[in-house]
Amino acid sequence: MAQDLPVLVVGGGIGGLAAALALGRRGLKVRVFEQGSEFAEIGAGIQLGPNVYRMFEVLGLTDAIESYSVHPDNMVMMDGLTGEEVIRLPVGGAAFRKRFAGYLYGVIHRADLHQVFLDACKGEKNVELKVLAKALRFEEEGGRVTLQMEGGERIEGCALIGADGLWSRVRNQLLGDAKPRVSGHIAYRAVLPRAEVPADLWQNNVVLWAGPRTHLVHYPLRRGELYNLVAVFHSDKYEEGWNVYGDPAELAQKFSSERPEVLRLLAKINAWKMWVLCDREPVREWSRGRVTLLGDAAHPTLQYMAQGANMAIEDAVVLAAYVELSGRDWEKALRWYQDERYLRTARVQITSRYYGDLYHAAGVVRELRNQFLAPKPGADPGQPSFEGIAWLYDGIKVPTAAPG
Ligand SMILES: Cc1cc2nc3c(=O)[nH]c(=O)nc-3n(C[C@H](O)[C@H](O)[C@H](O)COP(=O)(O)OP(=O)(O)OC[C@H]3O[C@@H](n4cnc5c(N)ncnc54)[C@H](O)[C@@H]3O)c2cc1C
Repeated sequence: MAQDLPVLVVGGGIGGLAAALALGRRGLKVRVFEQGSEFAEIGAGIQLGPNVYRMFEVLGLTDAIESYSVHPDNMVMMDGLTGEEVIRLPVGGAAFRKRFAGYLYGVIHRADLHQVFLDACKGEKNVELKVLAKALRFEEEGGRVTLQMEGGERIEGCALIGADGLWSRVRNQLLGDAKPRVSGHIAYRAVLPRAEVPADLWQNNVVLWAGPRTHLVHYPLRRGELYNLVAVFHSDKYEEGWNVYGDPAELAQKFSSERPEVLRLLAKINAWKMWVLCDREPVREWSRGRVTLLGDAAHPTLQYMAQGANMAIEDAVVLAAYVELSGRDWEKALRWYQDERYLRTARVQITSRYYGDLYHAAGVVRELRNQFLAPKPGADPGQPSFEGIAWLYDGIKVPTAAPG
């Protein structure tokens, strides 16, 4: 019987493991195929909104996440040219917690987040994990999906989830749309041990220094033992690049007109890893028959809202709920899942682009940005409004009934 076959997940990143765990917890057998030689994540930070803490609770991961993560006091935007504070959001305070149903904002090392999912998957008897397993193609026939692996093996499942990231092969076969859009923005990332961060530059905040066509973000990681740095600038020199070594001289040149605080932090690092940032236009449909996409494979976004991984985890929880609610009617469940997710994830994709424009504003637009974002006259700094971001941070309800 096809229904007795496992669910096949291509990709063992945060999205693939979250999907495997959410389905496994609901009693489905799942097999995860990762092309790499181990299940691992790169060294960098991930920001976690209150929306994803709600998902951690659903998945029973709250304590494990709390043992690694840091709750910053504020998100702060500084003007990289003048050093003036543009806006401050107290994401670690009682008002934020109250507004978002008891959840705070957090930051975590990607490897730690991935490890939490990996440990949970290893402890879940329904989940089987396989490395050095690269999927090439799939076929869907007779109520089952067959995955063709590199090396010739053919693996059968009742359904297939492509969680294989930005350059997804599953998407390529399923949707056949164009390549991802190269944004012209380049990210350099590095992590510093706390002891190497000058004491006057250490803050328990997520700080964003907004400069013309650049920005630098920093925040603490791993219980405060590390400091995460992400520097972004515009360049049309690169088309591809994912976790490759960058050129510190190029970075220094791009930020040369900016504040000494920014330059001092940049100068602390001599081995940056570089990413060419890409996204896609949102699409309404990413499920067909018994095959679907999840995370970056479905809705890759620029990182300016810091929500790509958050969205992948939300996807996983919603997908698993609908599989159960449909009585494992895969066509129905995958359609319900996509219909519920496409607008929310599209909003993140599109708003992230606008945030990028805002962060990188130059000239008069920069001055206007600072004016728009400044606290309104008479506003009580003790009573900040979080309503602008509530559509995102309020999070989602886990489906408990079939869509009407
Ligand atoms: C600079 C930067 C900062 C970011 N900051 C944040 C943040 O603060 N918060 C946040 O929520 N998000 C952030 N993101 C986004 C986040 O990193 C991604 O959205 C998230 O990692 C996507 O997870 P995924 O599992 O969908 O894809 P991936 O992490 O890309 O995982 C895909 C996996 O599939 C495997 N794979 C690919 N093809 C195959 C195949 N054919 N067969 C088998 N395996 C395959 C890959 O090896 C990989 O392990 C950031 C991204 C960048 C670039």
